[in-house]
Amino acid sequence: MLGKSYTIARFADIPVKLHWSFGLLVLTLIFIEYQDHGSLIGILYLSAYISILFACVVLHEYGHAMMARYYGIKTRDIILSPIGGIARLEEIPEVPIKELLIAIAGPAVNLVISSVIGVIFLISRQSLLPDVNAITELYNLQGLVLLTFWMNIVLFVFNLIPALPMDGGRILRALLSMRLDRLLATRIAMYIGKAIAIGLVVYGVYNLEFILAFIGVFVFYSAQAEYQNLKLKRLLQTTTAESIMNVQYSKVSTQMDYSDLISLYQQTGENNFLIFDEQNTPIGNIPYQFLADYAKERTLTQVRDLYVANVTKTRIDTTLYDLFELMQKHGIAIVAVVDTQGEVQGVIDRHLLQDWMTSSSRRGSIISRLFS
Ligand SMILES: [Zn+2]
Repeated sequence: MLGKSYTIARFADIPVKLHWSFGLLVLTLIFIEYQDHGSLIGILYLSAYISILFACVVLHEYGHAMMARYYGIKTRDIILSPIGGIARLEEIPEVPIKELLIAIAGPAVNLVISSVIGVIFLISRQSLLPDVNAITELYNLQGLVLLTFWMNIVLFVFNLIPALPMDGGRILRALLSMRLDRLLATRIAMYIGKAIAIGLVVYGVYNLEFILAFIGVFVFYSAQAEYQNLKLKRLLQTTTAESIMNVQYSKVSTQMDYSDLISLYQQTGENNFLIFDEQNTPIGNIPYQFLADYAKERTLTQVRDLYVANVTKTRIDTTLYDLFELMQKHGIAIVAVVDTQGEVQGVIDRHLLQDWMTSSSRRGSIISRLFS
């Protein structure tokens, strides 16, 4: 996410990473505190507050991660940045109840922490409203616990703002998709998210709360990306290999020279090639990388000296979604698209699939790529 993150801990087999700008923010806060009050105690308490906030955010993210684990979904990592934490799940379940419970699990952790403190304060008949004139009056143990209570209330309420991709937005989308088609539900959640995001930016800029304004910008584009990605996924799931395959592909033989392949590439625009034997059976392939390597070194090479002796075949009715997964997972450059008799009808290579996806999704995915 926009630069480097550092792994600082690992619990339950999930790395907790800190975005570098978080460290910068902490140092800035400590510096401001020192300038304002110039006391070592102040810095000590401020550090304690930041550590507690930090711990509460981490616990919140573990709420998501543990619920996801319950449903068999892995969490790649948890990243902490100045605009909040992100538990990066390997997938977001499309079953509404699963998405709902995973989204709720985070804020629920904060609610539990606040409730525990709240109950203790009520039993011991102490006020939960800090009756102080200055922050320095909270520089004691009781103040620390009191602030932890309010910190968690804020985390709870803030995360429930119904703006995708925040927890509240996911809850909203999950609830809507119990009744509506998921794509439509996401679209509605996106519009609500964008409206709230604009509100956050206006409020943030007007009140000089720039982190809030930045969160607004982030929410706006993430809501958009969330919808675009789902739309693309749907499109991939409903389009077959047959409808995009290249039927005018070149059939390469092992007797060809690489220099001929370069000419073919220049004439036809094909990037990856299938190799056929005399019986017109596909026997191997040449990924684009081999061409690029040859173009650099220009050593005398024939196709038979350098090719991948393996052909991946896919049926004409395979969805592009399954095909994309297959090619990604095994690093396949080109596949032969075959009919029910096993005859090759066309080819699809990485470039063709990528171009098709780019032209279908147009915009919206850039931000999601930055943040993933
Ligand atoms: Zn959350």
